[in-house]
Amino acid sequence: RVFSHQVQKELSPLREVRNVIAVASGKGGVGKSTTAVNLALALVAEGAKVGVLDADVYGPSLPLLTATSGKPESPDGQNFLPKRNHGLQVMSIGYMIEDDTPVIWRGPMVTQALMQLATNTLWEDLDYLVIDFPPGTGDIALTLAQRIPMTGAVIVTTPQDVALIDARKALRMFEKVEVPLLGIVENMSTHVCTNCGHEEPIFGSGGGERMAQQYGVALLGSLPLDIRVRRESDAGTPIVVAEPDSDLAARYRQIARNAA
Ligand code: ADP
Repeated sequence: RVFSHQVQKELSPLREVRNVIAVASGKGGVGKSTTAVNLALALVAEGAKVGVLDADVYGPSLPLLTATSGKPESPDGQNFLPKRNHGLQVMSIGYMIEDDTPVIWRGPMVTQALMQLATNTLWEDLDYLVIDFPPGTGDIALTLAQRIPMTGAVIVTTPQDVALIDARKALRMFEKVEVPLLGIVENMSTHVCTNCGHEEPIFGSGGGERMAQQYGVALLGSLPLDIRVRRESDAGTPIVVAEPDSDLAARYRQIARNAA
């Protein structure tokens, strides 16, 4: 894919990046970061050169998910080298702030910091840059969506009504700023008990599908609520790299193929 609306915006500030994919959600805790990192790793598995940018300023989780930490190196005092692990190039606002320090910057400062992080990272020849967006449709998410030329956006939601209501708002926000919608990922769609195999739709069922139909966008795939996803993420080896032959990894690869 090429930047479809590059003509309307200033030339991309991300020169070494061919496609930018936003992974967004209406609210926190629905699995946006988990999806972003596994989608990025699935694209690596498909043979692409991929970077991830953690723009979730109030809860950066990519350092944990990719087992990377420390202040990024700067060869020239102005630009930063991305960290590398699992075949990914990674940059996170989390590298710049202490673990237990709340970010108390105002919106414009955050946006400026994130734009700098995106443009001053020395990304090396990327087919895809996956951006883990801040949740919601606030000022920061909106400005990022407007200022970085996006190839498209992926919206993550659970099937629960309260999550879907917010996910619709996120979807409409990208529509408003003319970022193409690549589709919806329904996360935590059912839970399979590790003991007895009983399957239960904890957050309801079919919500992602209904939303996709209603807005005429693709349902890229769904993920069950599965302890392996959480466990491997917390260990810094997301499921796509920890268990590449699992059904879960296959689902993420399918989502990557559907989106790309
Ligand atoms: P968000 O980025 O939307 O705030 P996260 O990706 O951080 O959400 O996920 C929230 C929590 O839920 C994390 O602990 C993560 O490991 C867990 N989680 C996300 N998706 C799944 C899943 N499909 N199965 C099990 N745990 C999940």
